Amino acid sequence: MPLIVWRESADPDVYETARTSRLFNGVIPQRYPVAIAFAKSEQDIVDAVNTAIQRKHRISVRAGGHSYATWSLRSDALLLDLGQYIEMDLDEKTGIVRASPSVTGSQLNAYLSARSRAFSVGHCPDVALGGFLLGGGMGWNTNNWGWACESIVAIDLVTASGGLIKADAHNHTDLFWAARGGGPAFPGVVTRFHLQTQPAPKIIRSSVYVYPIEHYETAFNWILKIASSVDHLVEITAVGSYKEAFQDPCLTIILLAFSDDEHAANGILQTVDKSHPPGLLSRSFAEETSVQRELENKYNAYPIGQRYKVDNVFLKNDADVAELLRPAFTTLPTRQSLALWSSMRPRSTEALTDMALSVQSDHYVALYAIWENEAGDLENGAWLTGVMGELKCQAVGTYLGEHDFQVRAGTLWGSQQYESLVRVKRRWDPDNRICGCLGLEELG
Ligand SMILES: Cc1cc2nc3c(=O)[nH]c(=O)nc-3n(C[C@H](O)[C@H](O)[C@H](O)COP(=O)(O)OP(=O)(O)OC[C@H]3O[C@@H](n4cnc5c(N)ncnc54)[C@H](O)[C@@H]3O)c2cc1C
Repeated sequence: MPLIVWRESADPDVYETARTSRLFNGVIPQRYPVAIAFAKSEQDIVDAVNTAIQRKHRISVRAGGHSYATWSLRSDALLLDLGQYIEMDLDEKTGIVRASPSVTGSQLNAYLSARSRAFSVGHCPDVALGGFLLGGGMGWNTNNWGWACESIVAIDLVTASGGLIKADAHNHTDLFWAARGGGPAFPGVVTRFHLQTQPAPKIIRSSVYVYPIEHYETAFNWILKIASSVDHLVEITAVGSYKEAFQDPCLTIILLAFSDDEHAANGILQTVDKSHPPGLLSRSFAEETSVQRELENKYNAYPIGQRYKVDNVFLKNDADVAELLRPAFTTLPTRQSLALWSSMRPRSTEALTDMALSVQSDHYVALYAIWENEAGDLENGAWLTGVMGELKCQAVGTYLGEHDFQVRAGTLWGSQQYESLVRVKRRWDPDNRICGCLGLEELG
């Protein structure tokens, strides 16, 4: 039986620490679970779910605690904290790794790279597999390797009625379908993911171009053109951010080439390099890097415990991306805030697997207002709402991982997939025991 801290009987400080531990966003909602159960094993998860059933409580889950909307905190639910349940086990013959939901991207990447294997883990090192994979999983090189959830081979889970089962392409196929993109609408608690890994690429090279804001339009349109023509090997992103020693935001363009062939990787980066527009503040070309090093960079860019307001859209493929994103990239509200555009090609040009995840386009855009003190809440929230308002008319949908249904109801799934998710949820969780998408009535 796991340690359970009950709201009614625990010391208030112990309860508050348990409630708020391992939360990424420093904006902590006033939602108070009835108890927090700390699972250390799969059996602890089974026991905690059955305790909640017996006492007629709902169940919420915290794997890595990275959800910006803090989905794990639900009023009066029993919060199942999986942070002490860490398990990774690679089958060298099949390349399938079994991993518990609280394993972070950084932990999985370190474990696999020591064994010359790779998996598309999330860009932020402390995003855990639980929320990441259930939401779809937009990891490193996803545009070439595919959505991370497409590499789920099977899941083990505790159902809303307390039983431990496995779901895969042959067993409980509706649950397997919902686990790939259903996010919090998934009607069970995943205890283990079985993931197909791939051989680690021999080489990762990075080119980085930093432009002052006066060259925003030329530089952005250059990289958009590159992204529509360079279809393989390279992950391409553009980031709006403040740089030390510059008063205005800058545009940083990052190309990461993943390959087994040094010549091919350098060749692509060289072709791109030859065409870069003038006006650079700095440039680095085809530097050797690793996913671990890139994760460390992200750790510094997205500090834990700061106050965050986040939203995202997939823009139409033919949208005037540079023009649409100008307000977001050039008016960042604080020096920590970030705007991100990421090319999803070539993955976005191919049909998705049959799974709950059903929205994508060539252009992924995520905006992060980041600030320190409560006094900035209104101003930063207003900035995000304002710039998102400009983008919505050119959007085809939204990615679940960086969205808050309480703020707006984006298009997260296709209409058929949404209906299927509702059916799966009603079939497996008729009492609505597992807390779902906060702010979305039918799936909440
Ligand atoms: C700054 C920032 C950067 C991000 N970067 C990326 C990125 O690069 N790629 C990407 O795809 N996403 C990214 N995200 C989004 C991230 O994937 C989601 O927030 C995800 O939910 C985090 O997973 P977690 O387990 O750490 O979070 P948690 O808050 O622990 O979990 C979120 C919810 O997922 C569900 N859940 C988690 N584990 C289980 C389980 N075992 N069983 C059932 N339900 C479960 C629960 O509903 C839970 O409340 C980012 C978010 C932020 C704020």
